[in-house]
Amino acid sequence: MKFALSEKEIQRYGRQLLIPEIGGAGQEKLKKASVLVVGTGGLGSAIAYYLAAAGVGRIGIVDGDRVDLSNLQRQILHFTPDIGRPKVESAREKLQALNPEIEIVPYYCRLEEGNAEEIVRDYQVVVDGSDNFPTRYLINETCLKLRRPFIHGGVLGLKGQVMTIMPYDGPCYRCVFRDIPAPEEVPSCAQAGVLGTVPGLIGMIEATEAIKIILGVGELLVGRLLQYDALSMRFREIELERDEECPACGRK
Ligand SMILES: [Zn+2]
Repeated sequence: MKFALSEKEIQRYGRQLLIPEIGGAGQEKLKKASVLVVGTGGLGSAIAYYLAAAGVGRIGIVDGDRVDLSNLQRQILHFTPDIGRPKVESAREKLQALNPEIEIVPYYCRLEEGNAEEIVRDYQVVVDGSDNFPTRYLINETCLKLRRPFIHGGVLGLKGQVMTIMPYDGPCYRCVFRDIPAPEEVPSCAQAGVLGTVPGLIGMIEATEAIKIILGVGELLVGRLLQYDALSMRFREIELERDEECPACGRK
């Protein structure tokens, strides 16, 4: 693949080429970049949509689910006629229609211990759009092992949170959330509900962090858990430190 920008790409990305932090050199970085999006649900839809629109050259999407009517209230990559189709197929079609210049790699499966390393290895940055704790911890462990930066995002009800993890350079997910909570401790979106705009907004923040990592610009949410409350419309930031005794990234 040639990384120099074509006339069409210069036109397509014109508005962001004008930004001094991006420009032609930054756009070429995006074109060369590869990002894995885990999940194509509420978070993953927003994440993948904006990464594709921004021109990230190769985007992997992992999801083992099929589109359900109850998904459409928030999972913006899937439309009513997609009900019953694998989400990665529906997502790939929309993303490729949005931006035919990039490559979308679908993985129609769950991210599991048996396949995580093999899939993650091929990507520069990982973005968490998953909806369950085991997957989140698996992403953390795999990204630490392979030293891939990843962005964590979580939503429930009218609240969401985001944090960026640079392996061994700031706290990891397990430094902050030591143990996998028991299923009855934390309700899922299927139990407690979620307003569609919340994963949309959190997913966009995650995508923005991934773009900044690729460009090497700005200040990342490393050691800063950003929490969002839609009801009070407030953001709050919690400063976090790396835990020396973290079972995942600790020095012992
Ligand atoms: Zn840790």
